[in-house]
Amino acid sequence: MVGLVIVSHSAALADGVMELAREMGGAEVAIESAGGMESGEIGTDAERVRQAVERVRSPDGVLVLMDLGSAVMSAEMAVEMAEPGGGPILLSEAPLVEGCVAAAALAGAGASLEEVAREAKGALRMKSAQLEADEPEADQEAPPADEDIAGGGEAGTASELRLQVENRLGLHARPAARFVGALGGLDTRVEVSNATRERGPADGRSLVGLATLAVAQGDEIVVRARGPQAAEALDALRALAAENFGDAVEDEPAGAASGGAPEPDLEAEEDPASEPPGAGTRLRGVPASPGIAIGPARRLRVPEPVVGDDPPGTPGEERARLDAALAAAAQELEEVRSTVAARGGAEAADIFAAHGVLLGDSAITAPALRRIEEGEGAARAWQAAATEAAAAFRGLDDPYMRERAVDVEDVSRRVLTGLGCTLSGAALQGPGIVLADELTPGEAAGLDPRDAWAIATARGGATAHAAILARALGIPAVVGLGAGLMEIAEGSTLVLDGEAGSVDVDPGDEAVAERKVQQEAADAARSALLARAREPGALSDGRRVEVFANIGSAADAARAVEQGAEGVGLLRTEFLFLDRAEPPSEDEQVEVLSEIARAMEGRPVVVRTLDAGADKPLPFLRQEPEDNPFLGRRGIRLSLAEPELLRAQLRAILRVAAEHPLKVMFPMVATLDEVRAARALLADARDGLGSGAELEVGVMVEVPALALQAAQFAPEVDFFSIGTNDLAQYTMAAERGNAALAALLDASRAPVFALIAAVTEAADAHGRWVGVCGELAGEPDAAVVLAGLGVRELSMAPSRIPAVKAALRESDTEGAAAAALRALPQRARDGTASDSAR
Ligand code: PEP
Ligand code: MG
Repeated sequence: MVGLVIVSHSAALADGVMELAREMGGAEVAIESAGGMESGEIGTDAERVRQAVERVRSPDGVLVLMDLGSAVMSAEMAVEMAEPGGGPILLSEAPLVEGCVAAAALAGAGASLEEVAREAKGALRMKSAQLEADEPEADQEAPPADEDIAGGGEAGTASELRLQVENRLGLHARPAARFVGALGGLDTRVEVSNATRERGPADGRSLVGLATLAVAQGDEIVVRARGPQAAEALDALRALAAENFGDAVEDEPAGAASGGAPEPDLEAEEDPASEPPGAGTRLRGVPASPGIAIGPARRLRVPEPVVGDDPPGTPGEERARLDAALAAAAQELEEVRSTVAARGGAEAADIFAAHGVLLGDSAITAPALRRIEEGEGAARAWQAAATEAAAAFRGLDDPYMRERAVDVEDVSRRVLTGLGCTLSGAALQGPGIVLADELTPGEAAGLDPRDAWAIATARGGATAHAAILARALGIPAVVGLGAGLMEIAEGSTLVLDGEAGSVDVDPGDEAVAERKVQQEAADAARSALLARAREPGALSDGRRVEVFANIGSAADAARAVEQGAEGVGLLRTEFLFLDRAEPPSEDEQVEVLSEIARAMEGRPVVVRTLDAGADKPLPFLRQEPEDNPFLGRRGIRLSLAEPELLRAQLRAILRVAAEHPLKVMFPMVATLDEVRAARALLADARDGLGSGAELEVGVMVEVPALALQAAQFAPEVDFFSIGTNDLAQYTMAAERGNAALAALLDASRAPVFALIAAVTEAADAHGRWVGVCGELAGEPDAAVVLAGLGVRELSMAPSRIPAVKAALRESDTEGAAAAALRALPQRARDGTASDSAR
């Protein structure tokens, strides 16, 4: 039986219509109402609509009836978001009440979806007949009762509507998107002009077109509609205008914002208190990498997609490619939109809805398609069309509208990535202190330390990847500084203290001079440590504790050797896979691994297999959205689910291991089955190669379950490498990148030391060795404790090596064992952990 969904701005209205429809159709008709917002406010919510659709869905199909304006857009989005293959979903243009009642009656009688839809559409005829009126035509249906409608809607003639725009920022991106959305599904052609400024006409379905009208607060617009549903279109637009185009109604006088104050951006909206920090302001965040940096603020410019030189296919093929990329981008945007909406950022979520509308904007798609017809490839055609649209925005007088060029570029970038374009590295406008909302690992890896003197991020915690990479680069960093950071003007003088976790904005000449003195003293102390950094890592009585480096590229390898690394304890191979449209080939991996191994000049290198997922998504792999990505398919879980990726990587590692001292380890292991499956793939890869090298195989200890069962794992692995970043996050149930949870992560030490003690004990019993490659290993005090717990190898950001070697030199075996005992929680001290140190 066909199901029905009622979408209305008002929950009460939707429920009332449902009740009425049930009366007509009988209790067995599946009807669901999706009225209002989750919060109880008036509005529509695509996700609520989607859920309602799924509840009544069957192979017979679902008919969705809507009231007006954004209800249509929400219903369209819901259809896009619906599970594929669950039965057809049809949106009905029928009047809500009459249509729903008529549809319920027919659905209850077992009619098909098409019959139900037809009946709903014709529902007004019943009313018309009763009123002894003629069947409504477009011109009669919306009588020109209002003085703002002139002319008729007969074929060829336009109905006209004049509207005064009262929004503070005029018809800006989001109201314009709602304008376009209100016309969704209506068979009509709409043109809009700005009567006040004599601009236009523009296509009413084009965001870019509407933007070029530069409609400001107080302007009058003229909307002309033609076609069978012209009257409905004008009704919908009139209703939308009555709702202030979906924007909040402001109390402030019209003139108050006439300066075109820029609308707050996404970050600012999440933190309404954020204001540009003035001179002398000190922002506080989470210390992420030590050192003092003084220099100009430099915002990170978003990397640009590079369109390749591949010859284009036929216009048909290129059109299909563009369609697929647009559909993928629409899905991505909807995912982002619903995530942001779920976090309570309804207005911010609208930005992504507006971006979604841009994807179908005729001002971009039409020229792109024309170029494709003329023989250009999809990527080049889209890029040219989007660049022109962005330039049209930039040419506008209104500063707010000019900024919307960025929206077009953002949307364009998504589509181009979907078309296989790679992104060139993130760029700075000059050397200085890098400001970013949050650095992706790819962006951080793309920074050149000659230009990036320090990193400051609005979000993120001390073990977020941006922080880790800053330490790897040996540059100071503070993370989690709050949304105000992004309000700092480009070029402002900043003093960043990576130890104290602070950023001072324009602190004045005297303060800058004082900090310069401190900076020089810190540099001198670092140079003194560096002078002894090449000595082997050992306690003062000679007990060896190898000090290795964590690296993520060949450039890091060279830096690691300079800083005194005795090997690589963690090679993060993700850098080879992130920010690219295709996975690297086996040969490319062989080349890069060989380069790294050569840079390490015969020192051992522990290669970690791909640790993607969660905060390190792979652009070329479509992963189902997860509610808790850190508890989801990441690390070895993802690799085992994509065995071809892992197989190619293992083959590359084996090929390089034939000539260099490589070891391999698997990340995020929780069960023995995972180790066995990964080892089986390794054995296969070796067999396939015919003469693969034998190499040590280890597991990372990042999941508490593994630490607690290390004795069962020990016989099946050669070594354990403890990833304290993840181990702390999973032990404390506190996300590592969340600045608000820094205190919880700090409190992880004692329990994490206890888990490490359990691992060293089990490893000792089976003659296995244990390393630590989480950030904890790079803290001098913690390094001594870890040595006391029996850890044989410490691996850290290269810049930490000199200080850690110095701390080890200052302790001996007894001292380290005592430090370990003090660091453990009370009950664990009674165990045998400290014996491992001897
Ligand atoms: C860890 O989790 O401690 C670790 C070293 O791995 P990553 O930081 O790359 O997740
Ligand atoms: Mg980890």
